[in-house]
Amino acid sequence: MSQVWKTRRLPIQPGPAAWNRLLPEPAPAVELSTAVNADVAIIGAGFAGLSAARRLIQLDPDLRIAVLEAGRIAEGPAGRNSGFMIDLPHDLSSDIYAGAAIEADQAETALNRRAIAFATDVSEENELPQEVFNPYGKINAAATSAGDQHNREYGVHLANMGESYRLLDAREMSELTGIRYYVSGLFTPGTVMLQPAAYIRGLAGGLKSKVSIYEQSPVLEIIGQPGGWMLKTPKGKISAGRVILANNGHAESFGFFVRRLMHVFTYASMTKPLPEGVLGGELQWGVTPADPMGTTVRRVNGVGGNRIVVRSRFTYNPSMTVSEGALARAGALHDKKFAARFPMLGGIPMEYRWAGHLCVSLNGVQAHGEVAKGVFSAVCQNGLGLAKGTLSGISAAELAMGQDTETTRALCAMDPPRRLPPEPLSWLGANTTMKWKEWRAGRE
Ligand SMILES: Cc1cc2nc3c(=O)[nH]c(=O)nc-3n(C[C@H](O)[C@H](O)[C@H](O)COP(=O)(O)OP(=O)(O)OC[C@H]3O[C@@H](n4cnc5c(N)ncnc54)[C@H](O)[C@@H]3O)c2cc1C
Repeated sequence: MSQVWKTRRLPIQPGPAAWNRLLPEPAPAVELSTAVNADVAIIGAGFAGLSAARRLIQLDPDLRIAVLEAGRIAEGPAGRNSGFMIDLPHDLSSDIYAGAAIEADQAETALNRRAIAFATDVSEENELPQEVFNPYGKINAAATSAGDQHNREYGVHLANMGESYRLLDAREMSELTGIRYYVSGLFTPGTVMLQPAAYIRGLAGGLKSKVSIYEQSPVLEIIGQPGGWMLKTPKGKISAGRVILANNGHAESFGFFVRRLMHVFTYASMTKPLPEGVLGGELQWGVTPADPMGTTVRRVNGVGGNRIVVRSRFTYNPSMTVSEGALARAGALHDKKFAARFPMLGGIPMEYRWAGHLCVSLNGVQAHGEVAKGVFSAVCQNGLGLAKGTLSGISAAELAMGQDTETTRALCAMDPPRRLPPEPLSWLGANTTMKWKEWRAGRE
């Protein structure tokens, strides 16, 4: 009997991927519509899937590689995030982002930097402009004395790790942002800020002559056959010796890691372009909240004009969808956060509102490794997929090529994702905890 995994559901993207809407219309999608053969088939064209494809080519330029994406490139979470490719520990379940142990955080930082170096090469190869790939660093902004205290504690943790950082006072924060909201900030130099959709489209564009990328080609079934696997899509099929699962939380839709992946959504809104001169400060900046459950804010400038992006709220949705009502409630919250920070921009409405699917594990690990003969998993990035998705794609490619590297060893040494309590306990527990932490984060 051959092994068969059928997907129970396909991704539904709530609201528009705003970053992608700012870019020129892409060329029509190439769908998989026949039967083809490949050496490696990759499911999902986000950070993990496309990075895996690029790493495979580096390891063997003659390899036949196919990437199958359910939707369009940059319409999924890869094109709807806040764009911080972070090098340092950024544990969203911790009060100050720090992990439990210094050595573990140092090792994680070294791995994230491998991902950032890989992405830097992508940016250089594809001549991405600074508005798309900006090695700007990151500021954790504090709006209250509690937030300021978080920054100071995180600073001590960074110093113990041997990392450099700089504390910014209220005046420096105001000069940067043009607003008087923040009391302090903690700057670290290693983060890159992306226009995520433009980066993902750049990465995919750079692969096109060497990799077959099929969009609007969701994989419906993975079927074992002699010498490998057959992947069925609505109009075609592909036979491949090896498969990389780079479909993040939707790995569970096929029956992998059942009840071990938490499906969390987070929400964002983007304004219409700001008229010239209404806001002082720098034209491009971004701040993550000093309290992990607070609000991320970016000011972007480039294709699409000068705009503000606000991200806030997490919800646990095991159905892997969110309702229109949840999107509207998050939007109302964003309006409040925006008004509190930018009173001078009162008349400027939001143009786009959206949510996106994060995959998180209870014990903060990725779901990585060979899950069946020749099937390699690169999923569950714990909300930090820009660095961790890139890294897990690199590692899955190396594993698929039989390589034993520092990266594969580190990712494969992780514990498996811990099993979730049964529903509705998980739903209640996760949503209550996140609501309470959001309330506690207050003005942050
Ligand atoms: C509002 C928001 C803000 C965020 N901010 C940040 C941030 O600042 N920094 C950060 O690091 N992370 C951030 N994230 C998280 C980040 O977007 C994700 O961690 C990252 O996109 C995960 O990358 P990935 O390649 O593993 O998965 P994804 O980007 O989710 O890609 C998986 C792809 O698989 C496809 N797929 C699923 N099922 C199938 C199937 N059956 N067949 C074919 N294709 C399939 C999906 O369509 C999708 O395109 C944010 C997320 C959101 C929503």
